[in-house]
Amino acid sequence: MKKFCYMGGLEGKSQEEIRKLQEEKLPKQLKYCYDNSEFYRMKFDGCGARPEEIRTLEDLRKLPVFMVKDDERRSAEQSLQKYGHPFGLHLCAPLEDLYLTGTTSGTTGTPTFSYTFTENDMNFLAPRIAHRLSLAGVGKGDRVAFFFALGIYATTMTLWGLRLLGALPIDIDARAGTDLFTKFIGLTRPTYMACTPSLAEYLVSKTPELLGHEVRDFKYKGVLTTGEVGIAIPEIKKKLESAYGCRFYDYWAPCGNAPAISCDAEGYYGMHAVAPDVCASFDDLVDPVTKQPVDADVDGAIGEMVQTNFQREACPVVKYAYGDIVQLFLKECPGCGFKGRRIKVIGRADDMLIIKGVNVYPEVIKDIVNEFIPDVTGEMRVVLEHPPPRVVPPLRLKIEYGKAMGSADLPHLAERITEELHNQIKIRPVIEFVEPGSLPKETRKTPIFEKKYDS
Ligand SMILES: [Zn+2]
Repeated sequence: MKKFCYMGGLEGKSQEEIRKLQEEKLPKQLKYCYDNSEFYRMKFDGCGARPEEIRTLEDLRKLPVFMVKDDERRSAEQSLQKYGHPFGLHLCAPLEDLYLTGTTSGTTGTPTFSYTFTENDMNFLAPRIAHRLSLAGVGKGDRVAFFFALGIYATTMTLWGLRLLGALPIDIDARAGTDLFTKFIGLTRPTYMACTPSLAEYLVSKTPELLGHEVRDFKYKGVLTTGEVGIAIPEIKKKLESAYGCRFYDYWAPCGNAPAISCDAEGYYGMHAVAPDVCASFDDLVDPVTKQPVDADVDGAIGEMVQTNFQREACPVVKYAYGDIVQLFLKECPGCGFKGRRIKVIGRADDMLIIKGVNVYPEVIKDIVNEFIPDVTGEMRVVLEHPPPRVVPPLRLKIEYGKAMGSADLPHLAERITEELHNQIKIRPVIEFVEPGSLPKETRKTPIFEKKYDS
């Protein structure tokens, strides 16, 4: 058994020392990409930059975005035509050195093999994934029920971190269905569970029905959630933690990079960038529409993350705007004292709306509406008549009212919600209330939009 040991040794290092380490790695990595991929040679030459001239994060922020999701798909199509493999023209390592591959979910189009690694890549990444999971207390002897689409899917790489910790993953493919998963929980009695927050919520009512026990009877040490905005909403975190009788942790590694996790505090203080030597994504933000830089040294800045690896052989990314919109926090974490960067996921760039020229994120609308729980249930949809991002006002919202609300209370509730949305993000929507429990819930990703147009 390999003993777990975090190889980066970044704990205890100051933010300046971390930046120094990042900037030592950066020019070497960019030169490697330039030398080994026609895609990156074209990109650097196209903007007149030399990789060895990019020495600091500030230099990196000034480079234009090299890739968005569609470019990655095109790069994969071209490499398939030209070289007979799907890893893209930005593949930098020899094909025979590939060791692990995982795809995106493909919910918004053809899956891409964005999570492709060499053995060296995994040897670098796995201890960092393990370190992240160890912050949730996962360790030797733990059994972790792991419920995602497996085999070719992005989350598969997390299993490398779990094994390195000496934990035993009980990995069950999400396509097997929630009933089978629940049965496996009864059979294996895991100490941790990893799944989407929607599934964790669903199991609260499903478990007694199938196993004759409440979820808290299983005495989990923790639940690890990813894949959607869930426990970032204080009411959802509180509700789930009290149902399970343990802490919930949000974890994430955008595009296979930069492992991050929320802390053990009672409140939610975002995902903490616990392996900042993997990727520059917590240090480089752009406006999702113009792709112009957003100052990433300002606490509270909101923008689309731009990924650039500091160390990766197989399919490194350079200036890749992957579509994740985040809010950045730079101050010491009030919950645990962590001094590094923290982020809260706001949503996807494709979900962003533009109303009267202003960027509006549906997850931010949802956050504000959730301030009204228990007068609302927390379930809502943004109703779109036309494809986003542009919306001709007023924006229409469908909101489930809370169980205790009578129909006479609703007009006043609508006024209060509208007022708050106007105060915080300057929109005045039209609200249609629907009965509690009437909006369909999904165990994978509950949609934020109700689309009234043909997509
Ligand atoms: Zn913290």
